This record gives sequence, C-alpha cells and structure tokens, in this order.
Amino acid sequence: MFTSILDLQYITTQVLALCQIPSPSGNVGQAMTYLAGELDKLGVTHAFGSKGTLLASLPGVDSSVHRTVTAHVDTLGAMVKEIKSNGRLVLTQIGGYNWQSVEGELCLVETMGGQTYTGTLLNTHASAHVFADHAQQERKAENMELRLDERAADAEAVRSLGIEVGDFVSFAAGTRLTSSGFINSRHLDDKASVAILLGVIKAIQRNELTLPYQVNFIFSNNEELGYGGNSSITPQTKEYLAVDMGAIGEGQATDEFCVSICAKDSSGPYNYELRKRLVNLAQAHGIYYRIDTYPHYGSDAGAALRAGHDIMHGLIGPGIDASHSHERTHQEALDNTARLLMYYLLAN
Ligand SMILES: [Zn+2]
Repeated sequence: MFTSILDLQYITTQVLALCQIPSPSGNVGQAMTYLAGELDKLGVTHAFGSKGTLLASLPGVDSSVHRTVTAHVDTLGAMVKEIKSNGRLVLTQIGGYNWQSVEGELCLVETMGGQTYTGTLLNTHASAHVFADHAQQERKAENMELRLDERAADAEAVRSLGIEVGDFVSFAAGTRLTSSGFINSRHLDDKASVAILLGVIKAIQRNELTLPYQVNFIFSNNEELGYGGNSSITPQTKEYLAVDMGAIGEGQATDEFCVSICAKDSSGPYNYELRKRLVNLAQAHGIYYRIDTYPHYGSDAGAALRAGHDIMHGLIGPGIDASHSHERTHQEALDNTARLLMYYLLAN
C-alpha cells in the first residue's frame, strides 16, 4: 500500500542531491540549509538546536508520547592540519576511515572566508617514476598530502589564497545512479537515510495520514563524532529509532536491497521488544528485511542510551556496501527502509 504513496523517485533525487553537498562533521551548514528548504516545501515547521541539529515534528493523536526518528547529515571529512613548505597540505581526519579509501580523491578545501579550492589527496611518494616505495609507503597522516590545483609552491603562497590551518576539507562523493538501480556514492552513510526521512515526511503530509503518536524527526549533525542529536530528545520520547546504514561484508546478513534491522552493534543489543515489533511489521507487509549484528558500529540511538535517556532504542537502515569507503546501495533498499519506517510510525 505504501509503495504507491511513497515517492521513490523523490527519495532517490534527494539522495543524489544531498550526497553532493559537502557536510563533514563540524561544517554541515550548507546541507542543513538545503534540508530546511525541503521541509519548507513540504510545509513542515522546523527549528535548529544550538548544536546545529535540525528538528521537525509531526503531530499525533496522542501528543503525550513521542517517537523520535533520526538520521545524520554529517559525513566523514578532514581538516587542514599543517601547510607544508612545499605548498602541500597535511590533513587531520574527521570521522573514522582509512587513508586508502580516499587516496586519489578529488578534495574541496573551504576557507573561513568562504572560498573553495580543489585538489587531490595523494601519498607523498605518489610518483611511480621517482619513488621505489610508491606502493609500499605506509598510508598514514604524515605520508598523505593534499595537492592544491593552484600555483602555490610554498606555505606563503598557500596562505595568500586564504587557506589556513583549520579549514575544512571534503571528499568528492562521485555520486551516480545506474540504470540498474544502484546508487554509487560516498556519504550514503547516512544521506540515504536522511532522504528516506524526507520521503516519509512527504508521504505523511501529502496524504494527510494520521499518526498515533507525535513523531519528532532529528536531522543530526554529529553522528560521526559519536554524540548525535542527544540534546534534542524530548522528555516525552519513549521510542528512539535511528535510521542509519546497514553494514555489508563477509559474515553479514545485510545486502544492498534489504532494510537491515540491527539486533546488536558495538554498544550492545538494541531494544528487543522494539526489534520484534519492527520484524513483525516487515513480515506482515512483505518487506524484504534482514536481521543483523554490526561488529564495528555505533549509532545515534546507542549514543542516546549512553547519554542517559530512558528510551527504547532501535536501528534500521538501507544496506550499504563498502561503508566509509566507495559506498553503494540500491533503490530497493531505500524503498524497503522507507516502507518499514512508514508502517512503524503509523502503528500503535
Ligand atoms: Zn552513519
């Protein structure tokens, strides 16, 4: 039933748009402005918290009990740590990833003055014709450098461009939708889920669906740093559902087509009762799902529990291959996740 009212084309378009807006943790303003604009178009009032979290609520029959749903806009990225005497930039990482996964990537440096410059992230011994260890050189922060596409061969020349230590660096997403329905892009974690939240809000608004409980949507901006939207959880919130990527790999049950329902991650088991309810809803409505555990993973829901919120916490999301690297998912995973989220929010 919800396949017809959930606009998969809209969700897909939002994924593609969001992935191309740079938003490393700590510098998500542009993405949040975009989201606020989309909420305006959907006729949903919203507000920003002091930490930068974006909140939007939809009323329910019972407003004394809230369900809170979150997805995070922030992504991996980097910051300029040092400007070297040869004009190359040393970076410090924002979020957890390995250097190999961004080696050779197009980068965007944003100065405090608002200018942007492109460059490429390389190892310092990149030239195969000069360095015998170009392949073996250990990929660690001090062996990586950003090569700016500017005539700036020393630190002074770089600074004259307005570039300084502390400037944010983002990695090009390389977003593309294939005719077979796959979406290749960096930052599908967690922009795929942000788009799903928008799609669900749109379906609820346009079809004037009645929610049993008030639903608060938190577009969080500090998930990759570990503390998510903890300051924006209302005291009435009884259930807190994070919508974040399902992890795929050897030994994992999740694939690129399912909604992955997380039973346990690094923080421990998710709320059993809530998990059972989500699985029952998926079964009852023929939604393709997989139950999984994620060995190296934390979510905004786990963070909320650790912060002391008295909530039932859950985690669902589209299966994302090669997370924190060259990520990929399929439109079917978006659809399955959006449908499960809809049934959950509409059920008592
Ligand atoms: Zn995530």
